[in-house]
Amino acid sequence: MDPATGKVAGVIGEYAVDAAVLDALKKNPDQYRAGILGPDAYPDVLTGQQVIHPPTNPDGTNRWLEYLWSNSDSSPAIKAFVTGYLTHAAGDMYGHTFINNFTGGAFTFKPADNAKKHILLESYIGKRVPDPTFAASIAGVEDFIYQKMVDARPGTYLDKELLVKDGEGTDGSIPRVYSTLRAELEADVVKLTADAKKCKPWNPKCSAVLLKAEAKYKKAWIADIDAGLKEWVKTSDSVAKALFFNSEKKTDVDKAQAILDDYVNKHLISMSGPPDAVGSLAVLSGKVQDIILKAIPDALVEPIKQFKRNLYDVLIKRATGMSSDELKRYSSDPETYFDTEMTKGPGQLINRGKFDTDMLFIKPADKTIEYKNVGAAYDTVVMSKLLLLSKDSVNKLMADLGSTNRLEKPDIMLGFIKTLDGDNQQAGMILGRDCRSYRQVFMRFAGERICPQTP
Ligand SMILES: [Zn+2]
Repeated sequence: MDPATGKVAGVIGEYAVDAAVLDALKKNPDQYRAGILGPDAYPDVLTGQQVIHPPTNPDGTNRWLEYLWSNSDSSPAIKAFVTGYLTHAAGDMYGHTFINNFTGGAFTFKPADNAKKHILLESYIGKRVPDPTFAASIAGVEDFIYQKMVDARPGTYLDKELLVKDGEGTDGSIPRVYSTLRAELEADVVKLTADAKKCKPWNPKCSAVLLKAEAKYKKAWIADIDAGLKEWVKTSDSVAKALFFNSEKKTDVDKAQAILDDYVNKHLISMSGPPDAVGSLAVLSGKVQDIILKAIPDALVEPIKQFKRNLYDVLIKRATGMSSDELKRYSSDPETYFDTEMTKGPGQLINRGKFDTDMLFIKPADKTIEYKNVGAAYDTVVMSKLLLLSKDSVNKLMADLGSTNRLEKPDIMLGFIKTLDGDNQQAGMILGRDCRSYRQVFMRFAGERICPQTP
């Protein structure tokens, strides 16, 4: 970029893509695209919106990104997926800096105007970007997503540092809730088995048969939770594609609802206390209700009840703050509501005509934006390329730009981003910490509060 004019001036140089990343992208482009759905999809939309996007640990989103990256070397499919996940973060970083300027701040449903403006404006812009390639697949990555993002067994990093029990935003997280329940059941099984061994035959208050039967019943329940949590990965993938990423370019809330209803029937009910596993254990029949009730920790009783009643409502309403009708309306027809919603409330007020000409640089007849004209889009593309580079390549770029800053982390997207919902997170990035370099690479746009002056 020419910092004086703010226009693209030419090429700085050519920089080698990291060898492992290049190999992964060549072999697994579909897994890369799935990764780009990022925490909107994996481990699921609500966990993504309530735990991964906002800063729910001292290190924020970065802790998730570093964790995924440090576990990404086991296969090219996984490397491609995680590279995609980082690309989602790059897009949010610039996209939300731009969007938050017009919504009055990071996504929140308090006030509800903010959430409405976010959905409306993001849908409006989404409809004006060139069609992507919609092939996105988690084939070969399902197990990685399950192990690293869903299976929060006691003692794992996921359990201790990321998807923390009783942590912020985790009360609606299926992976967290059922990992907690499973851990309780596993502890019960250990205790029941030990108690059964201690039973003396002459003690009528201690029945080894009953204790063993209860242990068997709880083992079956645990198996149902395992199976359901594994299936959750595919379910989340399908829900996200129905809502955000399909060739019909539709927010298909009905399809998402159907997918989630099916999951409730096939898995969630039995994960929540499996009546069908009881059949052979008639000896327990009178005690089953008691056992189920006692086994579910108090804090989980209400969330589980709500999941069973209407999983769609819990997930989508909580993630978006909207009913499905509202979500349909603002996401499929943002043009109609633009002028009424975007000219009131918090943030920079702007009408549709002015937004088209001054922000997207399009005429009413234009179907798509040219990304090179729209700063937030251009910068997203640049950042998406930079995060493919090896550390050495980034440092070569830094030297070519005349900067003495050097990247310490293995990837340029790591080490700084606190929240994906926030704006101006790029201030913490290696280039953002050196304005002279930053302005040679990134375009200025509305909402940016970093490096404001021409160096
Ligand atoms: Zn996001």
